[in-house]
Amino acid sequence: MLALSDVSFAYPGGRQALAGLSLRLGAGIVGLLGPNGAGKSTLMRMLATLNRPTQGSILWRGRDIAREPEALRHELGYLPQEFGVYPAQTAREFLRYLAAVKGLPHASIASRVDECIEMVGLVAGRDRPIGSFSGGMRQRVGIAQALLNDPALLIVDEPTVGLDPGERQRFRNLLTELAGKRLIMLSTHIVSDVEAIATDLVVMQKGRLRFAGSPQELLRAA
Ligand code: ADP
Ligand code: ADP
Repeated sequence: MLALSDVSFAYPGGRQALAGLSLRLGAGIVGLLGPNGAGKSTLMRMLATLNRPTQGSILWRGRDIAREPEALRHELGYLPQEFGVYPAQTAREFLRYLAAVKGLPHASIASRVDECIEMVGLVAGRDRPIGSFSGGMRQRVGIAQALLNDPALLIVDEPTVGLDPGERQRFRNLLTELAGKRLIMLSTHIVSDVEAIATDLVVMQKGRLRFAGSPQELLRAA
């Protein structure tokens, strides 16, 4: 589904955040691991078509996303690390607002929002203000907004920061339920977030690829 070849990225001012990354990814849950500064968020933003590679290419189902970002945008759901909510709105109100901004057909917004709320397990809290939610519930709102357009590529950047162990486990269960035919890319610096649920692992360090393969292969290589 997704093929990166020799992708590099430098921020304006010169810092090389990604260097010569090549990867091929199909459906499943891909865990993107690496210490702070490894380039995980930079790569996630690039797949979300917010950063353009300074070198190399990224193909989504054969189409170059630097040339044709729309080819991917329609099929993309993104939960950025710094996802902001409006605390006074209820989950339903906020998601309906985002669905309208994303351009979902007006007539389908209410039902699609309720479907997404159900998929992420927020039915009981849907009419409460988001400001009253736990960290885990807020992250579910973030996943729900990323699912509104039923994306084939779901990008989730460091979603478990600030969640307690129980919430992290429930979050892993949710991603497993959502995987199906999707490609889910999940970045984290916590190995236990992904070792049990990832079909593939990608390990980065200082902008370079250190490992790509199954969790079993990573254990054998270690
Ligand atoms: P990670 O998500 O793995 O912690 P990042 O992608 O955030 O890594 O960062 C990779 C490198 O790029 C780091 O050296 C970081 O300081 C740098 N960087 C990240 N964002 C920016 C930015 N907006 N401008 C300049 N440098 C950045
Ligand atoms: P991460 O957890 O991904 O490493 P950071 O703390 O590095 O996140 O970055 C937080 C925000 O600050 C990001 O939006 C990133 O783009 C920005 N940022 C990170 N490093 C730099 C930098 N050297 N110069 C400018 N912005 C940066």
